[in-house]
Amino acid sequence: MSGRAPVAAVASHECPGRGCKQRVGAGMLACRPHWYMIPRPLRAAVWAAWRDGVGAGSPEHTAAITAAIEALNAKLGGPASTVILTASQSDCFADMLADAISYREPSGQCNDCDEHPASLCWDHAADLDRTDTYLALARDLGIEVPR
Ligand SMILES: [Zn+2]
Ligand SMILES: [Zn+2]
Repeated sequence: MSGRAPVAAVASHECPGRGCKQRVGAGMLACRPHWYMIPRPLRAAVWAAWRDGVGAGSPEHTAAITAAIEALNAKLGGPASTVILTASQSDCFADMLADAISYREPSGQCNDCDEHPASLCWDHAADLDRTDTYLALARDLGIEVPR
């Protein structure tokens, strides 16, 4: 008998923040900066469900953690899964997006647009929204779209 308490395996895990490789202790969800990026009510929910570790792994805790991680990664700019395209895939994607954007971009004469108070008719406003979505997607994927 050595009299020493057995050292519990100190479980640690990787911070769930997108692209973050920080190891964090079992009692914490994310590294400090990322933890504080999670909206306060969601953090409170995680603590409430954690109950000093008693609630670990409970459905409430899992749900609270999932919501918190989703909110964090939404702030970090995308889903937790990272899409990494090869160079040729990126080129292909950039071409596709450029085509899609030039197809959607309001161009030339449109009588509806001319008459519309916002100088953009409903159809063309919808097209412009789509263009924005394409560009946002390209940004998320780290692709530069030739304009
Ligand atoms: Zn982190
Ligand atoms: Zn129009």
